[in-house]
Amino acid sequence: MDKDKSNKEIRVRMAPSPTGSLHVGTARTALFNYLFAKHYKGKFIVRIEDTDKERSEKKWEEDILKGFEWLGLEWDEFYRQSEREDVYEKYIQKLLESGKAFYCWHAKEELQKEREKQMQAKMAPKHVCDYRDKKLSQKDIPDNSIVRFRNDVKESIVFTDLVRNEVKFNAPDFGDFSIAKSTKEPLYNLAVVIDDHEMKISHILRGEDHISNTPRQILILEALGFQRPKYAHIPLLLGGDKSKLSKRHGATSVYEYKEQGYLPEAMFNFLALLGWRPKEDEKEIMEKNEIIQEFDIADIQKSGAVFDVEKLSWMNSLYIRKLSKEELTELCVPYLEKEGFFVRQKNTLKITANGEERSYDWLKKVITLEHERIKKLSDITEGLEFIFKEPKYESELLIWKKSDRQGAIKELKELSVIIQNIEKSDWTKEDIENIIMPHAESSGLPAAPGSPAQVGDRGQVLWPLRAALSGKKASPGPFEILEVLGKEEALKRINTAINKL
Ligand code: GLU
Repeated sequence: MDKDKSNKEIRVRMAPSPTGSLHVGTARTALFNYLFAKHYKGKFIVRIEDTDKERSEKKWEEDILKGFEWLGLEWDEFYRQSEREDVYEKYIQKLLESGKAFYCWHAKEELQKEREKQMQAKMAPKHVCDYRDKKLSQKDIPDNSIVRFRNDVKESIVFTDLVRNEVKFNAPDFGDFSIAKSTKEPLYNLAVVIDDHEMKISHILRGEDHISNTPRQILILEALGFQRPKYAHIPLLLGGDKSKLSKRHGATSVYEYKEQGYLPEAMFNFLALLGWRPKEDEKEIMEKNEIIQEFDIADIQKSGAVFDVEKLSWMNSLYIRKLSKEELTELCVPYLEKEGFFVRQKNTLKITANGEERSYDWLKKVITLEHERIKKLSDITEGLEFIFKEPKYESELLIWKKSDRQGAIKELKELSVIIQNIEKSDWTKEDIENIIMPHAESSGLPAAPGSPAQVGDRGQVLWPLRAALSGKKASPGPFEILEVLGKEEALKRINTAINKL
């Protein structure tokens, strides 16, 4: 793509219609536009395409823009089509005056009938309008008229797509297609052509679903004497079953992912690698600047890309691990707060666990227990519930796989005595470990034949301890849990466990 490093400024646009929440596919297209612009130090433009007044809503515009911001797709220029009626009017008049567009007042029913007839005859539906040569004075234009493009082109329309190479359409197949509802209300194809010209767009990167609009847009822009931008149609996102990604495959809105606690950096990385891959490179974890530096349209894959949530979660867990303890705590607090684990009073957190008041530092320690384990921030609530509330579990959980009920009772009773004797001043993970570990190693089951003498099966001791403290099959280790629970709560839980057995 070195040819794009020409003197001409690279200007791309993302042109969402505000008719729904920001879809991950739209976010990916926006991201590719952004990467391309930044790679060439060009401009990334956001244009809200809200000419369809019935379907467009302000709340969706806000949702989409907030989503772009969250992903870090800062735009250089911003436009809203609903504010550009005067611009469109000028060009619609021009097309009408030059005879390249005309008014059509066929009733919807007539057009529908024509369509059905063509379909029955196995012809592709199109409307070649018998009003195309009618010259009307302003006052004679019927109220229900729309504006159509007068399509006289007989040849093929060929364009070079930067992803799909040569693409060809037969121009007469489009008939005299509609381009505006009135001189102030352009339809999508016309508004796009006018805006792309006025905004000096050099490259159009958009979803493959727009590919059949491109020849219509080329017909219009040639009629207006505009220069053709370069096109790149990006393959669509697919679900796991290789069909077009939809709700049925899971969350499709960027917000659902944000709310579940996916980090924007991870989403950025993940979306960038959906259908694009740096040349001869297998690496998957790439920072924003690295992606910008390596982005090249030539490396966009031609087939659809599967939106694999498992992979996103894996990437997200790696980005979570990169957070500092402080950052992680700050990001997790809202999730725990929402779950009602603690409350906020006049902007300060009032943290209580098991009836005891706790500090922010304590909370930081607790949240850090899950740092390596969570895949998304919302996992923190399930992961840490047992710290804040006494766990519920069946007594079988306490029994180590190589032991029995009596064994578990014996170990827990011994542990209870050891723990009672630990001084409060020694109540750190390291000190607790230094006291309990030698006991676990010597009092566990006899060593398996061939293993070093004296080393028994620590699971005999550590399993019931960890299970009694957490009530879970998998959790952080027992010494970390002991440290944050505190002596009293730990003894209470061990006691409960003995009684259960
Ligand atoms: N407004 C169109 C859409 O939301 C995109 C137009 C374009 O990229 O040309 O699908």
